[in-house]
Amino acid sequence: MDFEFDAEQRALAERIRAFAAGRLAPAAADGDRRERLRPGLFAELAAEGLFALRVPVAYGGRAASAVGTGIVLEELAAGDLTVCYPVLNAALVAGVLDANATDAQRARWLPPIARGESIIAVCLTEPGHGSDAANIELRAVPAGDGWRLSGEKTSTMLGEYATHGLVFARTGQAGAHGVTAFFIALDDSRVERARLRDLGSRAGGRATLTFDDVPVGRDDVVGAPGCGFVEVMRGFDYSRALIALMCLGAARAAMDEALAHARHRRAFGQPIGRFQGVSFPLVEHATFLHAARLLAYEALWRKDAGLDHRTEANMAKWWAPKAAVDACHQALLTLGQLGWGEDRPLARRLRDVIGTELADGTANVTKLVVARQLLGRENAP
Ligand SMILES: Cc1cc2nc3c(=O)[nH]c(=O)nc-3n(C[C@H](O)[C@H](O)[C@H](O)COP(=O)(O)OP(=O)(O)OC[C@H]3O[C@@H](n4cnc5c(N)ncnc54)[C@H](O)[C@@H]3O)c2cc1C
Repeated sequence: MDFEFDAEQRALAERIRAFAAGRLAPAAADGDRRERLRPGLFAELAAEGLFALRVPVAYGGRAASAVGTGIVLEELAAGDLTVCYPVLNAALVAGVLDANATDAQRARWLPPIARGESIIAVCLTEPGHGSDAANIELRAVPAGDGWRLSGEKTSTMLGEYATHGLVFARTGQAGAHGVTAFFIALDDSRVERARLRDLGSRAGGRATLTFDDVPVGRDDVVGAPGCGFVEVMRGFDYSRALIALMCLGAARAAMDEALAHARHRRAFGQPIGRFQGVSFPLVEHATFLHAARLLAYEALWRKDAGLDHRTEANMAKWWAPKAAVDACHQALLTLGQLGWGEDRPLARRLRDVIGTELADGTANVTKLVVARQLLGRENAP
């Protein structure tokens, strides 16, 4: 067993940590207030190679491991969790396209992703279908050699910024086997975007996208018709461990601030860290964050090793966001009234990590997956 990153992974973590501290953290409060990622951010992320992580080298990518991708997201999140979403989507969708596309599609789709020219949204959730995503209703009606998409997607992170979407639509029968995945340009007057106002990750541009008779062709299909849910979605199987590391990165930053405050803030003639009522809760949260982080990295390590990682990734996804929310809350309380202030990042971090309790599946949905593994499908909810 080995619980340490290797030299290359340590160097990656240090490089991204410095980038996050220098370029992301200082702008995070402003982005949150303006509800907008700052202009030029995508170009900067591209210059750092952060859209190229899961793109193969042959298509201009870095072919990063799942663990390496987790390291990047954890460190970015310590600066600004919201900035992780475009990097996360590029990594996940590039992997899905690489696994399911034809050579011609790979050559068309992957290089612009690696260069940060295609900003990607994942368009799955609908107003009537979130957890039961296999029952989505956005229609793909046959037209000529292709289809026309009509219907509504909602809760689409980056919906305001995305140039391209991985859009799941119903081409066939009811249920999972009637769903097809399309990778399409969203810069089309027949795609209407409506911004959602959120509690956290306010700069993330979460939006509702309405598709009004949008033409798509056979060349836009990812994998085969009817395989969107049962095949293409499989490529997302480790996303839950990545999101776990995002919220843990943000929580680590919150804890660092709380620990520094506990060392320096004095009450009743001594540093508040000397009160067990202050330091012991911080110890407990540090323990939960540490353990959840090991679980998330184990899932990614298993993914890289070609081992089954569904249980670990889903365990990490229900636990890490809860641990992160609790830790950020405790960190805020440790700072007293200072933590409540808009000029401190703690309140924003708390709002942002709550979003990770919902994104890519709630705790209940991830527990369903684990329960089926532990109990067997016939004995589980
Ligand atoms: C920050 C953020 C980012 C997101 N990004 C995207 C994105 O980019 N693309 C996208 O498509 N979607 C995105 N989503 C949507 C997200 O995937 C959904 O919110 C999530 O899947 C839950 O669906 P729902 O909100 O419709 O809740 P519902 O499915 O309506 O569930 C409501 C409640 O019922 C519970 N529940 C439902 N079914 C069961 C069951 N069988 N057993 C027990 N409990 C159950 C849920 O746990 C939840 O508490 C994002 C959401 C957030 C908050």
